[in-house]
Amino acid sequence: MYDILVVGAGTAGLSAGIYGVRQNKSVLVLEANIYGGQIINTPDIENYPGIAHTSGFDFAMGLYQQAVGLGVEYRQARVTSIEDAGDHKVAVLEDGERIASRTIILATGAKNRPLGLEHEEEWVGKGISYCATCDGMFYRKKVVAVNGGGNTALEDAEFLSNIVKKVYVIHRRDQFRGEAARVEKLRARENVEFVLNSNITALLGQDRLEAIEVTDKVSGEKRMIELDGLFVAIGQMPENMIFSNVVGLDQGGYIIAGEDCRTNVEGIFAAGDTRTKTVRQLATAASDGAVAALAAVSYIQDKEMSA
Ligand code: NAP
Repeated sequence: MYDILVVGAGTAGLSAGIYGVRQNKSVLVLEANIYGGQIINTPDIENYPGIAHTSGFDFAMGLYQQAVGLGVEYRQARVTSIEDAGDHKVAVLEDGERIASRTIILATGAKNRPLGLEHEEEWVGKGISYCATCDGMFYRKKVVAVNGGGNTALEDAEFLSNIVKKVYVIHRRDQFRGEAARVEKLRARENVEFVLNSNITALLGQDRLEAIEVTDKVSGEKRMIELDGLFVAIGQMPENMIFSNVVGLDQGGYIIAGEDCRTNVEGIFAAGDTRTKTVRQLATAASDGAVAALAAVSYIQDKEMSA
């Protein structure tokens, strides 16, 4: 029986681990993929307080080593469901193994939102990518497009403009959600073209992506852009349906929890991008990890005192 079981080894999950073990609690972090979470794909982090400049990979690696070094137990395993057994909770793994813990912190983050167009899944790796840092070099001196208007899209476009021949930035509005400074930086680049108020309405090609159809939302006009690669950066969405029989989710699928990270179930907490919140940043994910772990510790102490 662990004191705290964390599902997800992104920034929120590993931060929760650090805070948990430093309160002398046994902590197991389970991760279905590789530790690090979404930040691992970010080329440059320049807004994490106290660190002027680092890469997402280095940040994730440092966080993992810090957590494990302090005594957090880490396992790569996919959780398929959780159960609330009252005085303890259970995480059920893909192979049927059941792990009991006094508390659970759900820190499963979010995954890339797809465009939902025909051929999208089929052409991943054949012209379609969700990660400019991972795949950008395949498009050296080629023509690419980035879809989205948030910081990820802006950052991807900037990164790609350093290595490719041309970058189209396609966004459904004429205002960007991402930081103005990033937009200005991009505007100054000669190989970047903004295609605003526009949606990608078709992915075209034979057995790989060769062109996209873009529809202007205002005029309704359709335009075909020939390209080698499309980087989809239209935000994230959570994958919490496996927890929906236990904790409450909002309409978007995020776990309902306030700034105290408490869900509707005593002893189960939600931290980071996977919970309902307005600001999803590296700093707020780390902050959630701390808050959730300390809330779990105080829940355990309250239970011990009332026993
Ligand atoms: P985001 O901020 O949610 O932006 C998603 C963008 O995609 C928005 O511009 C949105 O358009 C557009 N979009 C959403 N659904 C769409 C659809 N179906 N079709 C076309 N466009 C669609 O997501 P993000 O850029 O991935 O960033 C997520 C969070 O991480 C943000 O808080 C961001 O600031 C943060 N982040 C920080 C850094 C950094 O600081 N280094 C880097 C990357 C990300 P609308 O604007 O019209 O809604």
